[in-house]
Amino acid sequence: MTVTENPPTPRSPGRTPPAARAARKPRGEGQWAVGHREPLNPNERMKKDDGGLNVRHRVETIYAHRGFASIDPQDLRGRLRWWGLYTQRKPGIDGGRTAVLEPHELEDEYFMLRVRIDGGQLSVAQLRTIASISRRFGRDTADITDRQNIQLHWVRIEDVPTIWQELEAVGLSTTEACGDTPRVILGSAVAGVAEAEVIDPTEAIDEINERFIGDPSLANLPRKFKSSISWLPDTPYESNDIALLGVIHPDHGPGFDLWVGGGLSTNPRLAERLGAWVPLHEVAEVWLGVVQIFRDYGYRRLRNRARLKFLMADWGPEKFRQILETEYLKRPLIDGPAPELPERPIDHVGVHKQWDGKFYVGAAPIAGRVSGTLLDSIAAHAEAAGSDRVRLTPYQKFIVCDVDHDRVETLVRALRSEDLEVTPSAWRRGTMACTGIEFCKLAIVETKARAAELITHLESRLADFDVDISIHLNGCPNACARTQVADIGLKGQLVPGPEGELVEGFQIHLGGGLGLAAGQTAGFGRKVRGLKTTAAELPSYVERIARRYLAERTSRD
Ligand code: SF4
Repeated sequence: MTVTENPPTPRSPGRTPPAARAARKPRGEGQWAVGHREPLNPNERMKKDDGGLNVRHRVETIYAHRGFASIDPQDLRGRLRWWGLYTQRKPGIDGGRTAVLEPHELEDEYFMLRVRIDGGQLSVAQLRTIASISRRFGRDTADITDRQNIQLHWVRIEDVPTIWQELEAVGLSTTEACGDTPRVILGSAVAGVAEAEVIDPTEAIDEINERFIGDPSLANLPRKFKSSISWLPDTPYESNDIALLGVIHPDHGPGFDLWVGGGLSTNPRLAERLGAWVPLHEVAEVWLGVVQIFRDYGYRRLRNRARLKFLMADWGPEKFRQILETEYLKRPLIDGPAPELPERPIDHVGVHKQWDGKFYVGAAPIAGRVSGTLLDSIAAHAEAAGSDRVRLTPYQKFIVCDVDHDRVETLVRALRSEDLEVTPSAWRRGTMACTGIEFCKLAIVETKARAAELITHLESRLADFDVDISIHLNGCPNACARTQVADIGLKGQLVPGPEGELVEGFQIHLGGGLGLAAGQTAGFGRKVRGLKTTAAELPSYVERIARRYLAERTSRD
């Protein structure tokens, strides 16, 4: 039918033509709970066609035998993430080509493999297993990530089933380490050992893991879902989709304060308190309710609006709590007080006393970069110090727990001999870096090596800098290393070089830091128009910022 065959109906006064009404009708956000079941973008179609968890069988029965070329493209760039696998960037492709090349042109025939370590808790045997896998199957690569995972690189699909078997034999996995799933749960790296801890929530983290991780009914979320459960506020709780933080209720005693809807990336938003107090035995149930809300009401139409923070921005904490109580928990939550929040992030570097009289020792590799060989050494040093517990922190550091006082010094010296500093400079202590262009397909700039150069420069020029400072290097706007909540947040991008040509560089965010909800610090860093540096000039740029800070501090005193 053509337009001329069906002339427009004459418009009666005050009435809107049906076609115009249809044009104005909201398209919906792809929320399942309001009937939008039809996939609205290719990612949603892929997940509907076949669940991400189902790819494991194909890896074990087909891909590991027939090799990289046999992998279905939808599995390769989609479902394998449900098992912690991403293809890694082909070496030698500069950041200027990241946005213009097709995915298959950017990717190598190797994988990045993320080992899920909920709460960052590892035994010596588990650490040795990861170390051995790294050496045999990952070219001895390993990074401690800012989500308490360990990431390996150069993994071949042929080796993946063996890696899974070896990890699972010691109680580790890569299940839902990536993908649109409930990812690794952050926890206090000193849970169960800290003097200041009132309740150790590890049992709640374990319960969630056992009951819900790998559950197909929670494995098709609109996007990733990040959790933090800790008594101490020593995780970046505010940047998680859900956070439960320790608090003492005046009538009910110790429990957890519930926060929802945080996330950084390109539209950063801090989590908000729902004003609810949750006892330890209800943590898993409340966590489940929040994940189910995300699954059912989360926006699925546009990937860049699919995180829970966008739903929270529209609903607000009161409505979120009401839906949680009425539709999911079927009961009201108990109102609760706000927890005390720290002025600065707590990274546990150094030597600290445990509640039982022993000590834990926190050390700083450079921007989380270690290796399988180094992880093996850490395991050996921990064992020699009488410890069977090693913890990873969300600041790319690690901790050896349960050390007797008379073994602390020997352990500190042993770690130092591996360049793992227990008393690092402020620069080393406060610097984190994401994966960057070395392995990440989305990267525009290099980060890990730059972080090392930056630390070396600042340690030589400002060795006595005596202020806690956080410097977070990110290879692109995705902010995996939390650009916006650092004192100096660095967002990788191309910037004009000395001759006007585009070169690797960073946009600078100044003055971030956690604790916003308590009104204690500034929150997101200020992104000032024009505040950029080339990567080559970064060390001297940061040095100038630090010197200006010191000069202004002195003039204020
Ligand atoms: Fe990759 Fe960008 Fe995330 Fe860095 S911030 S790991 S470059 S996606």
